[in-house]
Amino acid sequence: MSNVNMVAALKSGPLLQGKIAFVTGAGSGIGRASATAMARHGAHVIVTDLDGDKAARVAGDLAREGHSATSQALDVTDDDALGATIDGTFKRLGRVDILHSHAGYQTEGGLEEVSLEGMDLSWKLNVRSHFIAARAVVGPMKAQGGGSVIITSSNSGVQYDREMIAYATTKHAVVAMTRQMAADYARYNIRFNALCPGFIDTPFNAGFEKQMGGRGELENYISRNIPMGRWGTADEIANSVLFLASDMSSFMTGHALVVDGGESI
Ligand code: NAP
Repeated sequence: MSNVNMVAALKSGPLLQGKIAFVTGAGSGIGRASATAMARHGAHVIVTDLDGDKAARVAGDLAREGHSATSQALDVTDDDALGATIDGTFKRLGRVDILHSHAGYQTEGGLEEVSLEGMDLSWKLNVRSHFIAARAVVGPMKAQGGGSVIITSSNSGVQYDREMIAYATTKHAVVAMTRQMAADYARYNIRFNALCPGFIDTPFNAGFEKQMGGRGELENYISRNIPMGRWGTADEIANSVLFLASDMSSFMTGHALVVDGGESI
């Protein structure tokens, strides 16, 4: 889309009109905000989450607002269910234009403390599930002429944390995997970009809050360590999802988009 056409598109209607988007981990936090923003901008959204009731609440809220969404329970650590749910969506709807592969996992601890189970689960959720989801979409996306795949990493995928070896290692790995997939599939017009949020105020930080010694300590940490002095909101990350999902980023692939109030500077 040329710049002139882009301006016309922004004036004339919703950014994602007619698009179909599939989101994992969309019952809460950033995933919910992503699904909501895409639906509000015209996409039909398949809202999936480990907890099917949470996914159904998000889709129900969107439907009540007059937007288009369905929901499904989906555990992204179940390879067969993940592949089959994506295949089924292509079969049912004919296409999927946007995959936001979002669900992830954080466990604390350095090399000597982290459990092997925690390390394995980090690989499973933060790398393997994105691999399985991406593998399920690329064939049909090739056939339909393209698509946008957004994989949630973290700013921990471009910088190093203290005592979070499993998280930082797997979030770096998924940035590498995203860039590799971007290089391999650019010729098919399938764009792959990694989303790298900083501290966003969602239930995801409950473990870190405990590690810090409570909400007050965590708030002090945020105001001292984030250059902008505050948390980000899930809606601020959803704005970046809209950018990556839409033709606004049509020449961008293999990018790690950091949105972190300056933390990683
Ligand atoms: P959130 O508000 O806790 O939402 C995550 C959702 O994913 C929850 O509904 C959770 O369900 C679901 N989920 C957990 N395990 C799943 C599985 N195996 N299959 C499918 N869904 C599953 O968290 P969030 O803030 O959106 O963060 C999640 C993602 O963003 C992770 O990839 C994380 O690394 C990344 N991220 C977050 C931040 C942040 O500060 N929030 C910063 C950087 C990156 P349950 O609640 O039932 O477990």
